[in-house]
Amino acid sequence: MAYSKEAYQKAEQELEKRRNSALLEREKRHNEIALKLPEILEIENRMAKAGLSTIKAVGMSSEDSKKYIEKLARESLSAQEERRTLLKSAGYPEDYLEVKYTCRKCEDKGSVNGLICDCFKTLMQSFEYERLCSKLPIGSYRFDNFRLDFYPENGATSPRARMTSVLSYCKGYADDFRKTSPSLLLYGKTGLGKTHLSLAIAGKVVEKGYGVIYTSAQNLFNKLEKEKFGRSDENTEDTILNCDLLIIDDLGAEFVTAFTVSALYNIVNTRCLESKPTIVSTNLTQKELRDTYNERISSRIFSGFEHLYFDGEDIRQLKSTR
Ligand SMILES: [Zn+2]
Repeated sequence: MAYSKEAYQKAEQELEKRRNSALLEREKRHNEIALKLPEILEIENRMAKAGLSTIKAVGMSSEDSKKYIEKLARESLSAQEERRTLLKSAGYPEDYLEVKYTCRKCEDKGSVNGLICDCFKTLMQSFEYERLCSKLPIGSYRFDNFRLDFYPENGATSPRARMTSVLSYCKGYADDFRKTSPSLLLYGKTGLGKTHLSLAIAGKVVEKGYGVIYTSAQNLFNKLEKEKFGRSDENTEDTILNCDLLIIDDLGAEFVTAFTVSALYNIVNTRCLESKPTIVSTNLTQKELRDTYNERISSRIFSGFEHLYFDGEDIRQLKSTR
């Protein structure tokens, strides 16, 4: 997937921070050891000398230089061994004076043999998601604080009974999430907890290490439109099409234009064809969705997604009083 310049730069800065802090931590440990075990300095002196002499050996004839380099390598190895033994005998871990990089593969440089390291890709991805999801209150909307007691209880077909099964479905969905999980349509009147449950799913799926984009429909189409008309060099479309889980909140609340209709169809259709899960929440009924967008979009969503109907009366009023 492609990344924005901003995500690339942030990832570079993060790696630099990691390298610097790894080196600083190593220096602190070294100062501590130099005070407690000053004999370590002499051992390290020998290690450094062996290293410098290797450079000198380059000017010698090839046979001499080979033997000389082998001798230096032995000296260096034995000094390293001595250092480990000394540390161990004083009760320190053997590798106490090694630099502890976050990524051992690339030593926090971001590339190995000219190829981008996975840690760099992961960083860019997380900055890319952060940029698109803006500041989400994920932590405050969880499954365990979804209040079923706000939904009226009057028999087996009551809103409470329905919402109990919706809640349990969403929990199971988040727990068993895979890259090929089904797409979901959360629909019903406004103020019935659709945003709460989609944020709870997002939080859980992010925790499992998947790449999740959560965005309001309005925000999503604004960003796509800016890019389309060259007012931004970000790459939202690519990220939207490729993330593991895309959640579009409040579809239908945005200002609908020919552009949003074609962008929405492209997103829903492309992700369906590649079996990538999308969650859409909307206050619109199937008929309203068809009237607002078109037949193609409404049938794609209503026939290709699993439906979760949210029942009851607006609970936001109740929430503010209890
Ligand atoms: Zn790495």
